[in-house]
Parts: sequence; C-alpha cells; structure tokens
Amino acid sequence: MSDPNELTVLNPATEETVATVPAASEEDVAAAVARAVRAQRTWAAVAPADRARLLRRFADVVDARAEELAQLEVREAGHTLGTARWEAGNARDLLLYAAGGAERLLGRQIPAPGGWDVTFHEPLGVVGVIAPWNFPMPIAAWGSFPALAAGNAVVLKPAEATPLTALRLAALALEAGLPEHLFQVLPGYGTTTGRALVDHPDVAKIVFTGSTRTGREVMERCARLVKPVTLELGGKSPNVVFADADLTAALDPFSFLDNSGQDCCARTRVLVQESVLDEARALLADALAAVVVGDPADEKTQMGPLISARQRERVRSYVPDDAPALRGSAPDGPGFWFPPTVLTGERHDSRAAREEIFGPVAVLLPFTDEQDAVRLANDTPYGLSGSIWTRDVGRALRVSQAVRAGNLSVNSHSSVRYWTPFGGFKQSGLGRELGPDALTAFTATKNVFISTEGPAQ
Ligand code: NDP
Repeated sequence: MSDPNELTVLNPATEETVATVPAASEEDVAAAVARAVRAQRTWAAVAPADRARLLRRFADVVDARAEELAQLEVREAGHTLGTARWEAGNARDLLLYAAGGAERLLGRQIPAPGGWDVTFHEPLGVVGVIAPWNFPMPIAAWGSFPALAAGNAVVLKPAEATPLTALRLAALALEAGLPEHLFQVLPGYGTTTGRALVDHPDVAKIVFTGSTRTGREVMERCARLVKPVTLELGGKSPNVVFADADLTAALDPFSFLDNSGQDCCARTRVLVQESVLDEARALLADALAAVVVGDPADEKTQMGPLISARQRERVRSYVPDDAPALRGSAPDGPGFWFPPTVLTGERHDSRAAREEIFGPVAVLLPFTDEQDAVRLANDTPYGLSGSIWTRDVGRALRVSQAVRAGNLSVNSHSSVRYWTPFGGFKQSGLGRELGPDALTAFTATKNVFISTEGPAQ
C-alpha cells in the first residue's frame, strides 16, 4: 500500500530504494499555481532577448551537470548510460533551440481597409505538464522549455516512479538565474496531484504524455473548463519491411528494444513481406541472442530492466511461456528484467498484435503486397510512428503518404528530433510538440486592428 504523502523511488535494476520524496497534495498544487501566476506576469514582461539569455544560461548549467543528470536517470529509471546521456543532452539542446524561439515569435500584418491589422502570440499563463516515467527528462523538457521560452510559467508533475531528474532540472533552473516559481516541479500521484493540476482554473493549458486511457480522462476534465490540451499517447507502430529492403538494417532489434521497449514510438509490429519471412525470422533470432541485457550503469549494456514489478507483470501477460517466440536472455535475481522477445505465432487481431505492450516484445507478421502492407499498417487505433523499408523510391513515397501516423521514417528507424514536429494521428494524440512551431502551441493569437482614420472633420 503506497503512502499518500510520500513517493518511494526504486532502482529498477536492483529494487533498492533510491530516495523518498514528498507527494504534493491538492493544497500544494493550489499554492504552486498561485506562485506561478505571479511569476509568469513578471516573466512575460522580460524582453525576449533577456528571456533567451537566461534560457541559454540554463542550458549551460544543464550541460555542466549532464553526467550527474544521466547517472540519476540510470538509477531512477534503469536506463542504459548511453540512453541517459542522450536524454541529458536532449534537454540541453532543446533549451538552446527554444531560447532562439523567444525572439522569433513573429506575428503578422494583414491588409485591412481603414487601418493596420496585426497579430500577436501572447503567452497563455501557467502551463501544467504531466510527464510519464519512460523518458522522464526529455518529456519533461519537451512540455516545459518551449512554454517557458514563449513567456509562460510551468508547473510540472513527473511520474510517481521517476521524479528525481525533474526535481534536479528545477533546481538547476534556479541556479542559472531563472526567476523563482517560474518552473516548479511537484512530484505526486496522478489521481491527486495530476488531477488537481488538470482541474485548476488558473492552469491555462495541459500537456500530457502517457497512456491513451489516462489521456482520455485528462481531455474530458479539460473539456469542462474548455482548457486546451496537448496529448502524446500510446502507439503500436509498424515496421514495414519489403522484400527488396536491406533486411539487416530494417530488422535492427533496437527499433523495438530501445529503452527496453518502453517507448511510445517502438516499432512493435514487424510487418515483413512473406517472400522473405524465413530470412527475417533467422536474422531476428540471431540479433535477439546478441543483445546485452544487464546492469544499465555498465557502458557495454544495451538493454536495462523494465521500470517496475507492475510493468513486468503487464508485459508478461502478453507472453505466455508456451507462446511461439524468438527469445533473448535477461538476468535472474533482483531487478525488473524481461528478455527481448519476438512473438511469431500471433494473428493481426490478437491482443499482443493490437495493444501497446510497453516492453521488449514485438510481433512478427507477414504481408503479401504493397496494398496489404498499407492495410495492415493502418489497422490500429494508434498512429504515432512507423518505418518503411524498400529500395523502390516510388513505393517509399506512396506508402509514407498512405500510412496514417505522425512520425514516419523511410529506410531509417529514427523518430524524435527536437527541431522537427512530433505527435500522433488517431488515438496516439492531439497537437504537436518540438519543431519550429513548438512555442506557438503555448500562445494565444491576438488580433488588433488599428484605425488610421483621422478625427471626424
Ligand atoms: P499513465 O498514463 O497513467 O501515467 C502518465 C502520467 O499521468 C503519470 O505522471 C501519472 O501519474 C499521471 N496520471 C495518472 N492518472 C492521472 C489522472 N487521472 N490525471 C492526471 N494525471 C494522471 O501511464 P502508466 O504509468 O499507468 O503506464 C501504463 C501504460 O501507459 C504503459 O504500460 C504504456 O502502455 C502507457 N504509457 C505510454 C507512454 C507514452 O509515452 N505514450 C508513457 C507512459 C505509459 P502516476 O505516475 O502517479 O501514475
């Protein structure tokens, strides 16, 4: 039974307690929002160039502490050192990118008879960010830093399993000279702290990343206050591999094993043209056997544990012991381990092929031709990501136009860059984060008409 006043952070690789952290109550949320309202008024009046300068200083401090942040992420989230270092660097780089946006929040001048018409992008006020545990640092950054650059204050609720790097980022913001209470982190439980943030009338927007189920509830609650919301939700992304593709590159198991598969962009439906299915199965079997699973703090480790015992139970429920599958290995003993797995006996409509598992588990499924590939790729309520592998340029273009997903890659498994837009179609979400328009998502457009008519003669 968890303590409603406290969060216990476990190291997923050892099950040892890393820290205990007070959990914010509804009153704490109200007090933090009141402080944020005051801080935002001052921040919005700071000249854009000075806001940018402060955010760049914040980036310098994050850079100086990048290794410390990475080590903390390894301990609280079980991420491999390589992933954790990328995450700290991503937070730093996004700060620099967003800082540049503060001076480029350009309005428009629209021709209008009898005067001048101009538009302004005004900050919304206080933005509430609710982050998940799978990429604690980057996802906290994606919601928060562009919002700050656009002149807003931020109150961030990290996931209960992973509050530590977010708390550290807030402390580093103060160290860099950002005004007090401008970027506050309130660890707590979703159903108390999270809901209080969503329901607070002075929180002007919610950015939520997590499950589609919780995202739907957040959206319903925001609707009562007509509060804008950005949702980054689940995925069940296809990896469409045509027979003419570079099969070794296309079947890179880290397309679904990165971060132990706890990645909303994981390509967990491996759709392979049936003429090369046997070859694909052999390549995947060899690749899974070679994956180094173990202590995430070891530089040589490629895959760490799952976040929690609960998540491991969830993942296990999709992989019965007797299921036909290709399997890698995982350590025994303490830690929330699960071996890399590809299920080979599933149908397109089975539970494992349709639901987001959020673990190192993919399904291997055959398709016949291009039309069949597109049909299967789109046969999902999700639409976040996906890869298309073929040497035929025309086909690559046709399929990338036909697949209904927000982030596709052709002959590559990449998906998230801080300078390109990120977000989902269908039940994978609403709105976009990152990219050139990231700041505008945290503004309201104001139109002002200025009459040039003189006083009546
Ligand atoms: P949730 O969606 O429940 O949690 C995400 C965040 O929302 C956490 O900070 C959580 O707090 C908070 N939260 C929970 N309930 C509410 C609420 N009613 N109102 C406001 N905030 C709330 O994900 P889970 O951690 O339960 O993970 C379950 C599954 O969700 C995973 O197995 C995976 O399939 C999917 N998921 C997808 C993610 C993605 O990036 N698309 C990220 C994480 C999960 P708290 O930590 O206290 O619960």
